[in-house]
Amino acid sequence: MAISQQDLIASVPTGLLIGGSWRDSSDGGTLKVEDPATGEVLTEVADATVADGRAALDAAVAAQRDWAKVPPRDRGEILRTAFERITERADEFAMLMTLEMGKTLAESRGEVTYGAEFFRWFSEEAVRVHGRWSVAPNGATRLMTMKAPVGPTLMITPWNFPLAMGTRKIGPAIAAGCTMVVKPASQTPLSMLALAQLLQECGLPEGVLNVVTTSHTGEVMEPIIRDPRLRKLTFTGSTGVGRMLVEQSAEQLLRVSMELGGNAPFIVFEDADLDRAVDGAMLAKMRNIGEACTAANRFYVHESVSEEFGRRFAERMGALTVGRGTEDGVDVGPLIDAKARDGVAEMVEDARAKGATVVLGGSPAQGAGYFFEPTVVTGVPRNARVMQEEIFGPVAPIASFSTEDEVLEMANGTEYGLVAYVFTKDLSRMIRVSEALEFGMVGFNQGIVSNPAAPFGGVKASGFGREGGFEGIEEYLETKYVGIAP
Ligand code: NAP
Repeated sequence: MAISQQDLIASVPTGLLIGGSWRDSSDGGTLKVEDPATGEVLTEVADATVADGRAALDAAVAAQRDWAKVPPRDRGEILRTAFERITERADEFAMLMTLEMGKTLAESRGEVTYGAEFFRWFSEEAVRVHGRWSVAPNGATRLMTMKAPVGPTLMITPWNFPLAMGTRKIGPAIAAGCTMVVKPASQTPLSMLALAQLLQECGLPEGVLNVVTTSHTGEVMEPIIRDPRLRKLTFTGSTGVGRMLVEQSAEQLLRVSMELGGNAPFIVFEDADLDRAVDGAMLAKMRNIGEACTAANRFYVHESVSEEFGRRFAERMGALTVGRGTEDGVDVGPLIDAKARDGVAEMVEDARAKGATVVLGGSPAQGAGYFFEPTVVTGVPRNARVMQEEIFGPVAPIASFSTEDEVLEMANGTEYGLVAYVFTKDLSRMIRVSEALEFGMVGFNQGIVSNPAAPFGGVKASGFGREGGFEGIEEYLETKYVGIAP
């Protein structure tokens, strides 16, 4: 790493990016960005007002017409260049992310790779937007469809993947020819600000990407959502906030994509390869310190293998080192803040009070920072909160089951429907189970499903819309039908 942590932070712009210029908030306000491993302030960034939010939308609206006319190849080349430059500077992006979010440098590097891949994927998709031509069934007319960019888009992203949740939206929007206002989470704005600067360097025209950081979040976002010039809202975050934003967007029937919370079941059948199941469990549970919408939340293990699975999994969890993500040898960083840490502790207590056994961990770590021990809880009853709510921490509750029907009923018994993980070697069962699971994504014999080339997204209270894959760009395109009488 050629650059010191201090110089790295100092290199990130701290203003609002509006119409191609970095500026202070109109009232001069700033908001503090903390390192969750120490609780110390890293830097301060501009704290946008309602007027700044409106100015960002004005800039996106003003840039839309010209941007839509830029040839698809040119838009794709900007993304391709950005992919290459992020990759060259992967260590810097990773350090920035670890400092503001807490995960280990290795995990941050993983997110930088994953996040940059959306730019590579959508640089290739930009030139593959097609309409179609057909003859009406009665032969009287010709049917032509064409695709057009949806228009100015508001993107609201969470703190848990500060870069990738942005690139997953910005990539297809650039490819499709939409302008945008991006609002990163207040706790982790630095990765997005650095990305915006890099996109400027790659030749993204002024006003195409505008970035607003604010602590007056609802106050600044709502007028933008209700502004008829806005054509799309894409949100990644909690189901509660998502519901509220859908209500706000209903007024002008805004096009909306919602990537919301999850409560992923992790099912291990009796015929599973237990080595693979334990490896998969470690990834599905511990990636991102358990702070992922895709994190395995509830482990259902067949009664014939549950004891052995629990023992092996707890052994692996117990070998993890908790500490500051910037340090060598650390596997698990801190949670994002004290509220998150205390919430996880309450859920473990609730499970214990309802009869579960804490076989590993179970407590917050002492001292500065918001650390929580890797935790395994067995014999967890259905009514425990850890089985029903998103845990968002390094806690693995395990319950056993006896039949396929029983486990499917338990897995589907949630308002969420983002992802499910299943371990089995039986192909017929794979087909039956993937058809029966009410989730947007199913991973068989693997603990990660996210892939820029695949459509990511949920059903039920996990939201609607897809990011990545061929589907991802469709979210930013309108279909226009033209009828032509020959
Ligand atoms: P959150 O509290 O819903 O915040 C997400 C974003 O919404 C942040 O930028 C936040 O801004 C903003 N926000 C909060 N209140 C708002 C309001 N009234 N109006 C407009 N925007 C508002 O969620 P989080 O705690 O950051 O993220 C964790 C959640 O995201 C989990 O539920 C997780 O499952 C979900 N998630 C889902 C996916 C997916 O693809 N399905 C991916 C990652 C995460 P501030 O930071 O300023 O509050």
